[in-house]
Amino acid sequence: MSLITVAGVSVDTRHWIGGQRVSSSSTFESVSPVDGTVLGAVARGGKDEADAAVAAAKAAFTQWSRMGAQARAEILFRLADLVEEHVEPLAQLETMDNGSLLRSHRRGVMPRVAMNIRFFAEYAATSLHHPEFQTRGHTNHVSWDPSGVAVIITPWNAPLMLATWRIGPALASGDTVVAKPPEWAPLTASYFADLTHQAGLPAGVFNVVQGLGTEAGAALTANRDVSRICFTGSVPTAKVIAHAAADNLIPCSFELGGKSPTVIFDDADLDLAVDLAIEQYDNAGQVCLAGTRLLVQDTIAEAFTERFVERARTIRQGDPRDEDTQIGPNIHLAHVERVRGFIDRAQADGATVVYGGQVNAELGPHYLQPTLIRDAAPGSEILTQEVFGPVLTMQTFSTEEQVLELANGTEFGLAACVVTGDRSRAERFCEHLVAGTIWVNCFFVRDLSAPFGGSKKSGIGREGGLWSFDFYADVKNTVYAPTGWKA
Ligand code: NAD
Repeated sequence: MSLITVAGVSVDTRHWIGGQRVSSSSTFESVSPVDGTVLGAVARGGKDEADAAVAAAKAAFTQWSRMGAQARAEILFRLADLVEEHVEPLAQLETMDNGSLLRSHRRGVMPRVAMNIRFFAEYAATSLHHPEFQTRGHTNHVSWDPSGVAVIITPWNAPLMLATWRIGPALASGDTVVAKPPEWAPLTASYFADLTHQAGLPAGVFNVVQGLGTEAGAALTANRDVSRICFTGSVPTAKVIAHAAADNLIPCSFELGGKSPTVIFDDADLDLAVDLAIEQYDNAGQVCLAGTRLLVQDTIAEAFTERFVERARTIRQGDPRDEDTQIGPNIHLAHVERVRGFIDRAQADGATVVYGGQVNAELGPHYLQPTLIRDAAPGSEILTQEVFGPVLTMQTFSTEEQVLELANGTEFGLAACVVTGDRSRAERFCEHLVAGTIWVNCFFVRDLSAPFGGSKKSGIGREGGLWSFDFYADVKNTVYAPTGWKA
């Protein structure tokens, strides 16, 4: 069966290729982290489906790429409007599929999905000017030309938001797209495919191949007709994809993991510092940008810990469909075990679990308590590797120099949060902090025109605003001579 119904929302879980639903001979199950129920069977694609989707996208490229940014924008604006009209079913599906909060999907995430489409369509149509400049009387004309077929592979922690953050600029730039949604949360991509059809996207411009990363994903990255690979996910998978891309010499945009610091100086507003630290538990810690390493100045360490634990006790963990829930479940049981392994090994190594550390048995096996760990051994895995669960560590420091070394002391460089009351200290400190995004006295403020990406192992490239078009397009310079013209 291909049509499944989740929370009253029906979704066709076959692939979407060349404007049609396509089955596979095998399927995989989508299981809800909310209560462990099996939501239904999803088509499990492999090389045949991947190749068919790339062929469909390639066939649609000429028409879509030559249509012009304004005509494309009109269709994409309709798509954004349709997403807004379908926020509720999309929110319901996503919550059951990946366990994130329903109210966040309704008020933040799904409206942002619409914005991902609308913003880049508008940018391409109105802000992507073609600069011209002179060289010895010759005119250089710069253009952002569509490049071909973009393959977009994304993870489960914010499935449709992360997918459309790449799909939006790819389509707006004139590329055609094959998306491979995460096998742990595949449903909203299938629902979204129907919206692209209703919006009037020509057949083949947008395609979805469902399936496992090692099957459908690997086949897509190996296809020689692909012009761009856009990947959001973990560092180990990125290394595999980089090899595939190297064989075809295709540009990649990688948005990967993090181990970001939240740096709290003793001149900070303590209430604000505690609020920002608690915010790092959002989405049950399954946020690439989360500042999970709390680095707290030693002079306020005890006062901070006391206030933090007081606040942590008030966090309402529960069913993500409930309006007042603040933290829901983790994505699947193997992931919960993986996170628990980090906690157990840290404890065995001498670290102290100051708060949490257990599965919240009343709620079920997917619900790991928000956890704070102190006194972990310097250089230990809990301080250096991405845990991707509701686990924060706390280390102390005495000087700016010392905390800079701690903050920059992992192989990641995705983001950082800095809390201080001293503006000149903030500017001095941030200048040497290695991170794609730094938030000072705030967290998660995002503007789609700002550059976004990671330093070191947290990624390759930047997207957002013009940076997105630099990636999806082939930037071309045409030089016109002043002479040789007949008319
Ligand atoms: P993952 O790397 O396991 O999977 C991500 C996607 O890659 C999935 O769709 C998967 O099916 C696919 N995939 C797996 N193996 C593949 C292969 N060999 N070839 C092609 N595709 C393959 O990551 P995950 O566990 O789904 O997601 C969590 C990770 O994503 C964390 O590291 C997190 O930090 C990162 N992330 C980064 C950002 C960012 O913007 N930097 C945002 C969200 C998540």
